[in-house]
Amino acid sequence: MIEQLLHLPDGQAIPYQLDLRVRKTIGLKITAQGLVVHAPKRISASQLQQVLLQKSRWIQQKLALREHNHVAPMQWADGEPLMFMGQDIVLTLQHHPTNKAVTLQGGQLLVRSPQVDQPAFVARKVLQWYAQQALPDFKRRVELVAAQMGEKVSAVGLSNARTRWGSCNSRKQIRLNWRLIQAPPHIIQYVVCHEMAHLKEMNHSARFYAVQASLFPHHVQAEKELKALSAILHRIA
Ligand SMILES: [Zn+2]
Repeated sequence: MIEQLLHLPDGQAIPYQLDLRVRKTIGLKITAQGLVVHAPKRISASQLQQVLLQKSRWIQQKLALREHNHVAPMQWADGEPLMFMGQDIVLTLQHHPTNKAVTLQGGQLLVRSPQVDQPAFVARKVLQWYAQQALPDFKRRVELVAAQMGEKVSAVGLSNARTRWGSCNSRKQIRLNWRLIQAPPHIIQYVVCHEMAHLKEMNHSARFYAVQASLFPHHVQAEKELKALSAILHRIA
C-alpha cells in the first residue's frame, strides 16, 4: 500500500491508499481508514488520476457518509458537547424572559432566551456566535502571516463551504471556513498558511509546497489532523 493524495480541481486533497496488483481494472473502496484504490501494476499516474477524478463525486459522497456515521448528530439541547479552538465546551441553555447575548464562561456556552426549547433558534444563535469569534481571530492570523511574507491581502471573509476549509483568489481575497474556529489553534494556523501560500503560487506545485513549508513546517501532520477532525467540525451546520 502506498500513501497518495488525490488533488481535486477545487483545491481539496483526498488521501488514499494505493494498492498495485496484477489486475486489469481499477477498484475503489471506502474502509474505516478511508479510500483504498486497487489498480493494475502498469497503470500510469496520469491514467489513474483521470479515473479518480471521474469518480471524485462518488468518493466524496462515500467519505462524507462514512464520517457522518461516526459522529452523533447535533441535537442543540442543553448539555450538548461542542468544541471551541480545540477545547471541549458544553452548550448550556437557560430560559430567560428576553434574548441575551451568547457568552462563553468557564467552558459553558451559555444561551439565554425565551426560545431555548427551539433547536433551530439555538442553532442559529450558536452559529452566529462561532462566526463572531472566527472573523477577528482569522483576520489577526492573516495580518501576521501577511506581514511575515511582505504580502498584502485585500479582504478576509468567512465561508460556509461544505468541502473546503479556505480559498484564496487572484484579487488577494482570503476566505476561511467559520467551522475552523472549533479546531485547535495550530490547525487554524495551518489553513491560514496554506491559503496565504497561494498568494505566491496559485496552484499546488512543488513551489507552492515550499512556500507553505516556510510558513508552516508541520503541514503534513496538520493536514492529517484536520482530515481526522473534519466530521466533528461539520457536526454543526
Ligand atoms: Zn490550496
